[in-house]
This record gives sequence, structure tokens and C-alpha cells, in this order.
Amino acid sequence: MAYFRSRKDGELERAVVEYRAGAMSRRAFIRRALALGVSVGMAGALATSWSGKALAQSTKTSDMPDGEFDFIVIGTGSAGSACIHQLAKTNARILVLEAGRNDDLEEVHDSRLWAASLGTDATKWFETLPSAHTDGRNHMWPRGNVLGGTSALNAMIYARGHRTDYDNWASMGATGWSFEDVLPHFIEMETFEPGGENRGMSGPLFISQPEDGLKHEGAIAFMNSCADLGFEENPSFNSERMSGQAWVDFNIRDQRRQSSATAFLRPAMEGGNVTVLTDAPVQKLNFDGTRCTGVTYLHNGEPVTIAAQNEVILSAGAIDSPRLLMASGVGIAEDLSALGIDVVADLPVGVGLQDHILGAGVNYEATGPVPVSHYNHSEVYMWERSDSSLRSPDMIALYVSVPFASTGHSLDYENGYCILSGVATPQSRGYVKLASADINEAPIVETNYLAEEQDWRSYRAATELCREIGASEHYAEYRARETLPQKEGDLTDAEWREFLSASVNTYFHPTSTCQIGKVVDPELKVMGIEGLRVADASVMPHITTSNTNAPSMMIGWRTGSMITQSI
Ligand SMILES: Cc1cc2nc3c(=O)[nH]c(=O)nc-3n(C[C@H](O)[C@H](O)[C@H](O)COP(=O)(O)OP(=O)(O)OC[C@H]3O[C@@H](n4cnc5c(N)ncnc54)[C@H](O)[C@@H]3O)c2cc1C
Repeated sequence: MAYFRSRKDGELERAVVEYRAGAMSRRAFIRRALALGVSVGMAGALATSWSGKALAQSTKTSDMPDGEFDFIVIGTGSAGSACIHQLAKTNARILVLEAGRNDDLEEVHDSRLWAASLGTDATKWFETLPSAHTDGRNHMWPRGNVLGGTSALNAMIYARGHRTDYDNWASMGATGWSFEDVLPHFIEMETFEPGGENRGMSGPLFISQPEDGLKHEGAIAFMNSCADLGFEENPSFNSERMSGQAWVDFNIRDQRRQSSATAFLRPAMEGGNVTVLTDAPVQKLNFDGTRCTGVTYLHNGEPVTIAAQNEVILSAGAIDSPRLLMASGVGIAEDLSALGIDVVADLPVGVGLQDHILGAGVNYEATGPVPVSHYNHSEVYMWERSDSSLRSPDMIALYVSVPFASTGHSLDYENGYCILSGVATPQSRGYVKLASADINEAPIVETNYLAEEQDWRSYRAATELCREIGASEHYAEYRARETLPQKEGDLTDAEWREFLSASVNTYFHPTSTCQIGKVVDPELKVMGIEGLRVADASVMPHITTSNTNAPSMMIGWRTGSMITQSI
């Protein structure tokens, strides 16, 4: 309630209390909030989140939940909320435990402020090990610690991935997860404003594209530069083809973020069979033999054990899901025993961690102030192949209307922009392990970025492509000078290696630490365990070519649908 308390000596807080008690209509509440200086969008979001029907309670201010629950869902992130949305359509009693805070922060809801949400307590950070191929640097990984999880602080790009991602998953043992299998779920969960073939028009998740008249001029220059270089414009990277320069599909409506909490969770809470607790970190999964019976979580700091009659669904994300499994006895037996943890199931949990890398070059100082984006500072993308023999794109290029450097470089100016290069199909694999048996101690995260030679090749080719785009005459009036790479003209092989290893940054997309076929079966049930599924980015057999929010949402949605059909 800090947000409310800071407004006019608690007047907004009093309005919330009246509204929740039903003593004030929605319209009256919005009028009062506007009079107290709250923005229009925020007033609407507050009216929804505090409607009394769709209310998440903090364990700091609420009693312990009453009664029995059929399902316990851990985490309200991209996947968790989508899963809950589907489960809530049944009569099942669902308890949702979210470790993080409520999402009553303007930085979460205003799409233009998304980077600022990283500076709030809606974000928590994991520190990786120093990496041999990234100039010995370690990397800081932000994750959502809030209703909506990482979908509440991400950059809102909505990309489903390449058809071959899912076909590969199926051929790796994820039966039922081929592109033809998952496409109906993507369609069902979305409303894509421009419409089109294979696009949904009636799902709860709103997706739009930048509007003519509001498009950023630097993004327009990107589109024109790519066209001049011979690339073919794509109406949407979620259409038949992924490659080619495109105006992004994003989860933004009227400059408001469509997080998974907004799109999936709040509507699900209206039915009355979903109880959502925030500030409720789960500490342990409980087992009777090999059956998961429930969880122990902290209610206002005190451990509480609660049972699930049917199942526990673990949707805590690619770091916290394996962390919780391992701390509860599900993991590599040898590692767990060494930490004094009793083994429930010997499975390769935490193995196979993947992430896209996002290089912080090419950067430019601008000739003057760069206009502020109406949306998310990142309105155009291009996926392409560095080699025509590849089945799917391995390179990413995107324009960002602000300067952006990794910790390996520093920039000494304010007015700038960049064209960032990424690797879409990383071959390098890392891991997540526990440092101790204490769930509250930070886990060990080894990224192994750029361990594989193919990743260097894709990364260099992508960065050279970005340099060509940025050198185009379409940027002539904005470009004062190229600042990264620091050398004019061609770089030698050794100079490229040195520059790229200092430039590597996370793309914020960790996946694949509880893979289908290795840790969970194709129904996402933990192998050898009853009553426990994992549903989030951790189950991907390999990372998608695209950013990972849309695939994570689809995983959650599909899991909820599978369970719904089986009860
Ligand atoms: C800065 C940033 C920008 C990004 N930009 C994009 C983008 O533009 N497009 C895109 O597609 N992807 C983007 N991503 C990645 C994308 O958002 C994630 O891949 C996706 O949200 C992962 O979803 P998930 O369901 O696996 O986990 P999450 O959404 O992280 O959800 C996990 C949830 O579990 C909760 N939790 C964790 N541990 C516990 C516990 N012990 N008890 C209870 N609850 C717990 C967390 O608080 C969280 O709410 C970005 C990520 C970041 C960090």
C-alpha cells in the first residue's frame, strides 16, 4: 500500500478501502483517483485490481487461507497466470502463492517506464558466475518479484517463435508440442488487434503493433535501412514467416502493459474459486513418499504447511523452479546428498540452462536529443539467418531509441541510440545449482555464454549486420558518430573477439532447467512423482528462437487446458 499512502495523506488509500467494501462505484472510484493526481490508465488498473472481486491479498495484512484447495499454483508469472486462467474455468478450488508484491506501481503499468520497473522491488536479481568468454564478467539477471512475474517488467515484445522450435521439441521427446499442436493455444489466448491468418481475435491477452503517426523516427529509419539492404519487410514476425524487418507485436494497449496478471489472472479471480496471496514465498514442496502433498510457504514471515488435494503446479520460472525442486529433494542425487538434502527423485534438474545473448553494440551518439518512444523504446525487430543453410534465423537485430551498454563498456553521452545484435539459437549450455540446502541462499548460475563456436559466428554476423543497418543514409541526420565498436572500419578477428566478449549482455531469457523429456514428461508431470507439474520457461527442451514471454504464456495456458480436460 506504499503507493496509496504516498498520495494525499492516505486519501487514495481510504478511497480504495471504500471501493473494496462496495461503498463506492467503479466510476466514482476512478473520478476520486483522478482528482488525487493518479493517471487515467493507473486509475483504471487500480479499479480493476482493487475491485474486491479481483483482489490479491498480501500475507502481511491477511489471515491464513481457509478451507481445502484442489490445486496450489506457485508463481503468477507469464506461465502461472495463464495456467490459473484456464484452471479457474472449472469448479476447482485454487490457491495461488506469489512470492512477490502486488503490482500497484506505475512503473509496471506504463509501457514507457518498463526499464524503471527494474529499479523497484517488483524486481529481484540473480548474479551469475564470472564467465570465461565474456571478459571474465558476471551478469545480473532480473526476474519479476510481483504479480505477473517477469511479464510485469519485461519489454513487452510478443513473439511466438519459429515453427521449427516446436517441431524440434516434439522430436526431442516433447510429444504433443509440435508447432501444429501449440498453434491453437497461441490463437486461443490472444486478441491480435490488426487481425490476420492464424491470429486470435477473442482471447484475454491483447496484442497490438505501433500505430502510424506514433512510430519512432529511428525505428522508421531501421525499416528503410533494412529494405535498402535487400531484406523483405514482414507484416508480423508471428505470421507465416519469422524473418524480415517488422514492426513488433507487443503486449501494450493505450500505453498500458498487458502483463499476465492483467490479461489472465485478474479475470480468473472474478469467478470466486481462486485465492491469490502475495508476499507468500514457497519454501518447500512436501512429499509423502513420491507423492507431492502440498507446500510450506511463509505467511507474513511464518512457515505454514498447506495441502493440495489434486496437484501442485510449480511456475516459479527458470531459476526458482529448479531451485525449489532441488531444495525439496528433486534433483541430481549426488549433488543433493552432498548438501545434506534427502533425495525424493534423482533427475537432471538445473542442467541445460540456456539464454539468448544481446550484444550492446552497435551504439551511436546522436546529433541531438532522441525523441521518447510512445511505446517501449523498441518498436522494430529483424530475425535473419547468417547462413542460408540454417532452418531458422540465428541472428537478431533491433533498434533501441536510447543508448545501451554492457558492463564491459561505458558511454559518456546522453543523446544516443543503438542497434543491438543478438543470438537467436544459442548452442552454449549452463546450469543452475544450489549453493546450500537453505532455499533462501542465492543459487549458483553458470551461463557458459559463448562457450560454443557457432554462437561466436552468429553473434559476429549479427553485429556486422547491425553495423551495416546503422551506417545507412537513413540515419544520416541522427548519427553524430559510431561509439561502439570503438574502432572505425573493419575489425580483425582478434578485435571482434575482444569487442564482442566485452559487449555481451543477457537478453533476459533463461530457459530449459527442467526440460520436457528429462525432468518432466510431455504433460509436464515431474517424472517419478505424483501430484506435481512444472509449467514455465524451465520446461522448454531448448530455448525458442524468439523472446520467451509468449512461449511461456502458451506453456501455462496449455497446461491449464490439459488439467481442465482431465478433471
Ligand atoms: C528485463 C526483461 C525484459 C524482457 N523482455 C522480454 C520481451 O520483451 N519479450 C519477451 O518475450 N520476453 C521478455 N523477457 C523474458 C520473459 O519475460 C520471461 O521469459 C518470462 O516472463 C518467463 O516466464 P515464467 O512464467 O517462466 O517466469 P516468471 O514470469 O518469472 O514467473 C515466475 C513467478 O514465480 C514467482 N516465484 C518465484 N519463486 C517463488 C516461490 N518460491 N514462491 C512463490 N512464488 C515464486 C515469481 O515472483 C514470479 O512471479 C524479458 C525479461 C526481462 C527480465
